[in-house]
Amino acid sequence: MRFQGKTILVTGAAGGIGRNITTAFEAEGARIAVTDLDTKGIEAEVAFDGDLTDRVFCDALPQMVKDKMGSLDIVINNAGITRDNLVLRMKQSEWEDVIQANLTAAFKLSQACVKAMIRRRWGRIINISSIVGRIGNAGQANYAASKAGVTGMTKALAAEVASRNITVNCVAPGFIVTPMTDVLEDSQKEALLSAIPVGRLGEPEDVAACVSFLASTEAAYITGQTVHVNGGMAMI
Ligand code: NAD
Repeated sequence: MRFQGKTILVTGAAGGIGRNITTAFEAEGARIAVTDLDTKGIEAEVAFDGDLTDRVFCDALPQMVKDKMGSLDIVINNAGITRDNLVLRMKQSEWEDVIQANLTAAFKLSQACVKAMIRRRWGRIINISSIVGRIGNAGQANYAASKAGVTGMTKALAAEVASRNITVNCVAPGFIVTPMTDVLEDSQKEALLSAIPVGRLGEPEDVAACVSFLASTEAAYITGQTVHVNGGMAMI
């Protein structure tokens, strides 16, 4: 029960990875607040439907959680989208939508929640980036840029708040079995499998286990890092 007495907010909680993160923290005693475009069917003490690219919603969210639950100790920036296209064909809107949802929203929410964490002298922010932010991927210039951006932002914020007992880290999944990867064709999945030494795609539980370790008290001396959960696909 490592998270007894702690309150956590998980974004993108209706998705494959978000649901598992929520379940993992609940099993260890955390009080759970979730947010997504539609939170119907998610088990949580408090759920907020909203679009994180709406800056007003993003700014207000931490206070809304605190009003309902008393505090906000751990924030998981997990919501994300893809709008894949080759650079030559990528529309301005495909670029902007991905940067807004994956990078700007994570920045805004981190900015909105960190002040109270500084006051309480404890906090954990964990951003879900991606292997693609590190090694790139054809057709994903927008997604790769957003996830590499999240890594840089994580390091800068980590340096700003480390002395206040707040750690900020990234978890970078490889290819995980979720609705986001369900769209891949069988031939793409076979090609991927041959590049993954562990011999399988990742499960959302593999990611959730890493997130909960980074949120724990045991991980107090780890900050500004990116932990790769990719079955050995890229040994970085
Ligand atoms: P998913 O599509 O199942 O879940 C993403 C969730 O984010 C969805 O429920 C969606 O509604 C929510 N969301 C998207 N935009 C939002 C917005 N503007 N406001 C509020 N909610 C929004 O995908 P997933 O695989 O569970 O992905 C979770 C995170 O992990 C993402 O950041 C993704 O980039 C990252 N990731 C996934 C994989 C993978 O293989 N599945 C690999 C690397 C990184």
